[in-house]
Amino acid sequence: MKVYIKTYGCQMNEYDSERLAQSLLEDGCTRVQEAEEADLLLVNTCTVRKLAEEKAFSLIGRWAKMKKQRPDLIIGMVGCLAQHLQKQGFKRSPAIDFMAGPRAITQVPKIAKQAGCGKPVSEFGVFEFGQGWNPKYGERSVTAYVDVMEGCDQFCAYCAVPLARGREFSRPCQDILAEIRRRVASGTREITLLGQNINRYGYNLPDKPDLAELLYRVAEIPGLLRLRFLTGHPKDFTQRLIRAMAEIPQVCESIHLPLQSGSDTILRAMKRGYTANDYSELAQQLRAAIPGLTISTDFIVGFPGETEENFQATLEMAEKNLFHNAYCFKYSSREDTVAARLPDQVSREVKENRLARLFRELERSALNIRTSLVGSRDKVLIEKPDIRTKQRLQGRTRTNHIVNLEGPREWIGKEIEVEITAAKNWSLSGKAMQEV
Ligand code: SF4
Repeated sequence: MKVYIKTYGCQMNEYDSERLAQSLLEDGCTRVQEAEEADLLLVNTCTVRKLAEEKAFSLIGRWAKMKKQRPDLIIGMVGCLAQHLQKQGFKRSPAIDFMAGPRAITQVPKIAKQAGCGKPVSEFGVFEFGQGWNPKYGERSVTAYVDVMEGCDQFCAYCAVPLARGREFSRPCQDILAEIRRRVASGTREITLLGQNINRYGYNLPDKPDLAELLYRVAEIPGLLRLRFLTGHPKDFTQRLIRAMAEIPQVCESIHLPLQSGSDTILRAMKRGYTANDYSELAQQLRAAIPGLTISTDFIVGFPGETEENFQATLEMAEKNLFHNAYCFKYSSREDTVAARLPDQVSREVKENRLARLFRELERSALNIRTSLVGSRDKVLIEKPDIRTKQRLQGRTRTNHIVNLEGPREWIGKEIEVEITAAKNWSLSGKAMQEV
């Protein structure tokens, strides 16, 4: 079978799509880049935001038209949204042949064959991490994600992830280390460890290793140049983890630390477990321990009950020039979450207005931070050709600034010393000085 996979959502979904593709390739499928060439169409969708759900069903609507011309075409929905909707998905779109949750990803080859026999199939399975990436089938890349834990026990009021991905469980250290060794041997230079609330890594493993221990052990792998992790929850940061980040040379000076709101009232309603002041103190501690550290964040505007005063508190956090990057979203209600049942849902117009104001402020402060770097020198790991201008290259500093520069393709995978020549809102331009 020729398979086409479309992914919506977070890094965890990208990682799942890689595992999905690998399982299908191991089963004899080939992967194609155009839906029109495929016999099996798969959409791997996130459930965190309503937008991803709408995009997935609109895509399936287009595929349903193709299926009218080619009734043998198999359409599958996989990932968090499939898990969340379960059999309701078939009602939303009768063109769907099977639904498989994130815990059944590696069973998709078998499920797709069953679905090809004409009856809708669903599988939500028991998650197994498996052996991870296999260089024989997986795509080699300069940077790679490696899943270290699944699920989340936090139950933030707005989030459907614990419902879709289930309770937290961690992958044993030795499996993670084996996968990273294979990645590094095939040319990967930078690894990002993934977990929904990665600070809680290891709590449910027999010997209870923590994230700090995992970082120390991963850093011992020869040839690994850079190490990052996602997503750290502000309430679960330990001193031991901060020390590990400061001590381990491979751990980059950059952290993604979702704030979500600057208002304590809203943070409490969101069940985030910290105040805006706790967050600022943690940011200060991290910056004191790790010179040059950059912080990126997430914001949700228009959470139920958010007043203009609450939103002003968010704007004040954004004004502090703390964030070099931020992902901002309008709150969207997700079925079966606590927030979906809250009164005072904020109107679409108000949410859009607040999002635009917050975005303007974050753009201003991000540009300030980037402008201050013009004229400085930094090491850039070259990752790929720049997608817009194929003649240029794109890489990142250890502090997670994207840098575009001129250079030969042979530099991909190398660290290059670069002088920063210009700042844009969300990226930098640079001039190569020398190979490091
Ligand atoms: S920490 Fe909160 S926002 Fe993050 S995955 Fe868990 S429940 Fe969702």
